[in-house]
Amino acid sequence: MAAEAVPEEVLLNNDLIKELVEVAKDTALLHGLLLRTKESPYSSEVVSYIPFTLFPTPVPRDLFQQALQVQTLFNQLVDKISRDSCFLEEALAGPIKVDMFTARLFQIYRTVQQEACAQSIALCLNRSDYMLDLRPDRNATLKQIEINTIAASFGGLASRTPDVHRHILKVAGLPEHSKRVLDNNPAAGLASALAKAWELYGNKVIFYSLPYFFFFFSLMYICRNIPVIRRRFSDVFKTGLLDQDKKLFVDGKEVAIVYFRHGYMPDNYTEQSWEVRLMMERSQAVKCPDIGTQLAGTKKVQQVLAQPGVLERFFPNEPEAVARIRATFAGLYTMDIGEEGDRTVAMALANPEKFVLKPQREGGGNNIYGEEICRVLQEKSERVAYILMDKVNPQPSRNYLLRHGSPVKLATCLSELGIFGAHIRQGTDVVWNQCAGHLLRTKSAEYADGGVAVGVAVLDNPFLV
Ligand code: ADP
Ligand code: MG
Ligand code: MG
Repeated sequence: MAAEAVPEEVLLNNDLIKELVEVAKDTALLHGLLLRTKESPYSSEVVSYIPFTLFPTPVPRDLFQQALQVQTLFNQLVDKISRDSCFLEEALAGPIKVDMFTARLFQIYRTVQQEACAQSIALCLNRSDYMLDLRPDRNATLKQIEINTIAASFGGLASRTPDVHRHILKVAGLPEHSKRVLDNNPAAGLASALAKAWELYGNKVIFYSLPYFFFFFSLMYICRNIPVIRRRFSDVFKTGLLDQDKKLFVDGKEVAIVYFRHGYMPDNYTEQSWEVRLMMERSQAVKCPDIGTQLAGTKKVQQVLAQPGVLERFFPNEPEAVARIRATFAGLYTMDIGEEGDRTVAMALANPEKFVLKPQREGGGNNIYGEEICRVLQEKSERVAYILMDKVNPQPSRNYLLRHGSPVKLATCLSELGIFGAHIRQGTDVVWNQCAGHLLRTKSAEYADGGVAVGVAVLDNPFLV
């Protein structure tokens, strides 16, 4: 497998790279790959380009296809888990004892389950992320890193990056290469599903729960044909209410869909926000995602799914579906108190560099690696807040990462492939189940962890090989 998409004489030609970097930035701006700046995250008076790679990154065609093909099964799996309160209760029993954030989400789930279900339409826009694991004795394999069931970002911007890479490759004198950058339009796929759910509800407004945040261009793009109001939890605390039928009103407008771009991190919540979240979950509005779907995306659920027999619970007569999902799982190990958890701890302490310790958190930058794993595992009661996962070792590639305000230099990089999924269920009928596109994110190999939002990874495109 080639490590880079462009030949060495292009990659190492400093004069050409300088020129391409300038072309790349202008092309990104032209295509609307915009980002508010860190200095003024609440204003669009000054904007810059979204961080991205100068060149696309090689991805083996067969593994790319495998990821696309398994997506509709993951959509179904998430939906099934979100409705299985016994499963969620059991799976999350450990973490909710010690992790107050997950516990509070779970408390809302319980409350809503106990009430008569107000909304039978469930909409999930998710992104399943993978790395390609390379071991000395075999070809690369597709391994799932996680599935994001809330605020699965970059569907909008990822739809616009292929044209930028194609243009760069043409200017670099590689027109044939430019044809191998795939078309990609997750914005269209995700927006169609949102529109469908909005129609099913009865064409009211879509409500974005949004912090005023510098990444918002991608979201604007997704929803451009539907009336949208953007508010923070604190605004809804003042102007939101449920009527006697549990219809949700914000600023006097009935809400069809609550689209959460927020609410997946502890510091997204004040006491007031928790009240607002509960009100939204109890309402008739379609939640994207609802609280059960958010919980289905926790790392603990990911680990439990990898245990023998668990996928069979969700696909009882579909061994082929089970096999296709399971083939993407890396080794995942429980941290529960007991013999099995003790074995995990011993294994991790013996070879910490082979594992990643993951808490029940989202958004990047939360995982624990190497010697620090040993420190955390010494605290026995705390360990159930985590899961342990085999570290996936992708093939590094060399590329230039372009980021506003940072010098451009050749970096050794690792990439992560995300596949977008869209799923709608009405009652027991699945009315939508699609793979909506892809996202490649690339980061310098010196960082073990971290997404685009925390300033580590940048947007990229697969170059199929
Ligand atoms: P989050 O929900 O915070 O994004 P992830 O599970 O995606 O959590 O972990 C964050 C980052 O850590 C990933 O984008 C990836 O770079 C790295 N990472 C996570 N799990 C692994 C793993 N098993 N092997 C190698 N890197 C990993
Ligand atoms: Mg995540
Ligand atoms: Mg992630």
